[in-house]
Amino acid sequence: STLLKSGTKDPYPDWKVGEPVPYAALCTTFSKIEMTTKRLEILAHCSLFLRQVLRLTPNDLLPTIQLMINKLAADYTGIELGIGESLIMKAIGESTGRSLQVIKADQNEIGDLGLVAAKSRSTQRTMFKPKALTVRGVHEGLMAIATIEGQGSQGRKVAGIMKLLSSADAHLAGKGNKGIDITEDKGGPSEAKYIVRTLEGKLRLGLAEKTVLVAVAQAIVFHEASQKGKKPPSTDDLAKGESTLKFVYSELPSYEVIIPAVLEHGIDNLREKCKLQPGVPLKPMLAKPTKSITEVLDRFEGKDFTCEYKYDGERAQIHFVAHDSPDQYATEVSSAGKSEKGVSNIFSRNSEDLSKKYPDILAKLPTWLKDGTKSFVLDCETVAWDTEQKKVLPFQQLMTRKRKDVKAEDIKVKVCVFAFDLLYLNGEALVTKTLRERRELLRNSFIPVEGEFTFASYGDTNELDQIQILLDESVKASCEGLMVKMLDGTESHYEPSRRSQNWLKVKKDYLQGVGDSLDLVVLGAYFGKGKRTSVYGAFLLACYNPSSQTYETVCNIGTGFSEAVLEELHTQLSENVIERPKPFYAHSTGNKDQPDVWFEAKFVWEVKTADLTLSPRYRAAAEHVGGGGKGISLRFPRFIKLREDKKPDQATTGRQIAEMYQKQESVGKNKGPSVDDDF
Ligand code: ATP
Repeated sequence: STLLKSGTKDPYPDWKVGEPVPYAALCTTFSKIEMTTKRLEILAHCSLFLRQVLRLTPNDLLPTIQLMINKLAADYTGIELGIGESLIMKAIGESTGRSLQVIKADQNEIGDLGLVAAKSRSTQRTMFKPKALTVRGVHEGLMAIATIEGQGSQGRKVAGIMKLLSSADAHLAGKGNKGIDITEDKGGPSEAKYIVRTLEGKLRLGLAEKTVLVAVAQAIVFHEASQKGKKPPSTDDLAKGESTLKFVYSELPSYEVIIPAVLEHGIDNLREKCKLQPGVPLKPMLAKPTKSITEVLDRFEGKDFTCEYKYDGERAQIHFVAHDSPDQYATEVSSAGKSEKGVSNIFSRNSEDLSKKYPDILAKLPTWLKDGTKSFVLDCETVAWDTEQKKVLPFQQLMTRKRKDVKAEDIKVKVCVFAFDLLYLNGEALVTKTLRERRELLRNSFIPVEGEFTFASYGDTNELDQIQILLDESVKASCEGLMVKMLDGTESHYEPSRRSQNWLKVKKDYLQGVGDSLDLVVLGAYFGKGKRTSVYGAFLLACYNPSSQTYETVCNIGTGFSEAVLEELHTQLSENVIERPKPFYAHSTGNKDQPDVWFEAKFVWEVKTADLTLSPRYRAAAEHVGGGGKGISLRFPRFIKLREDKKPDQATTGRQIAEMYQKQESVGKNKGPSVDDDF
């Protein structure tokens, strides 16, 4: 709080009112953040800096935030960084005149490509002083790199990276300086270092997106008060601003829309100006696992709830606006989403645009609408459908469908949409209505068509026996089990992006074992033996720790793979081999625990386990179990499938694994509510 109260001084004399925010100023803030682990301090550094941006150059607030969260644009735009190590090394070499060999040797020694870049930069002599980087310039440069496609794109990406790197740390260039001593001061503000980490897609400052969101709210509230000549805001004012921004962002997760609106209309008017809007996907609500029906009854005691079938397909959010609706559609729509009736998109669990994967759904969509249904956002599951037997097919069938440029006439795997929630209807957001009300609206707005569109089956009952019957029936209907949801009151509101206590999943195969499968990231592999000599025979897997942005090892796995799958995995993974583990891999350094090869953290696998145990060989959730350096590990893990719809940073978190472990350790005991870690 002392930090918050200070901060009217100008630490950057070069940065004048209205002038672009110097990138060096942002990097200084990054390095302050990197040097502390205290959340409140991180928050204060962040919000102080944003206040300064608001005071001097409010037009740069948006790119500043985007660089802080390391996302150039909202998720649904599909614009991403995460550039591979080899391209970055090439660019560092070429922009600093050092050979690739030297760069590689440095990388081997230092292990952090950002620091390698900083070091290369600081030993370089330049003839002329390059122009200093600005936040908006860096954002533009990165945007260009991220969006390059087509022939020769690699070369152009390298050129783009070189351009940024050769202007980095301009203030140090040409002074014959000794440069930044990266060994003494790892946190030193080097632009090259942060540019490289940004390119890699991992800033690793310990700065969570949620913290940035709170910092933005605080900065705006402070700024608005000072503009109106008022006293600094009270804790209540700050809390009010935070809750406004959190709510608005959960309905409309796009800083591109929110920031201009808040600058124009002020935070008090933001809820009115920025609402859920068709075309901007919200993050879906998720469920907590449960191990038994009795656990469900314990949690929902005395409340009315519903048990819906849990269909095994792909989560989808369908957005639609009819041409004759007064509602605005927020994004551009590909040809797949255009029809005589209106415009539409279908988004994945990660807000990826799936319109080109499901042109058949979008083409038929208008025929499922009742007359008055003019605009909506629908939460549903797309499931592979057997047209002859008239029943759902396993998830694996759906995965054989192509992801892009699917032509409606070539489609072999038919899908049926199972709708279970309605989040927006005819100009109104429904997220703060009860599930009972939303379900009623859903059922009144659409017409089911066999094998194309229908509502998720459900039963509303509080009886254990009845629930057991529903569970058995759902399994007979090729579903995974049940989704149990609160029906009334605020607890039944739709909570975007939350893994909520108010949605519980009961899977048929939970009933023994650990409750839920895990989604883990492949970090390394061991060469096969015997029959498996030409492929990898076992793999090192990790979970994700969102607060430190690290991957924590959790097990070795060699079971559940067919020979064909092993071959396919070998082809896929051998393209992603790296020479040494990344600095953001938390793993055991014991000699026996090193895999034969390391990979870029890229692929997510679904894995089942018999139970969880503590082990000194792994790092998963070590901070949560506090067992003297021991992490949690899976016993008898078994490969289930590739999770192509999940990115590595959406893998199961250490905290979730700790929860599973604690639950296992206290079977039968009522532990009370656990903490939500999804934002
Ligand atoms: P899982 O591997 O169990 O799908 P997940 O992390 O993807 O895990 P969860 O919240 O655990 O998601 O489970 C909910 C998922 O189940 C939803 O994302 C959705 O795809 C699917 N689903 C199927 N039927 C329903 C339903 N009736 N209501 C909600 N979600 C459903």
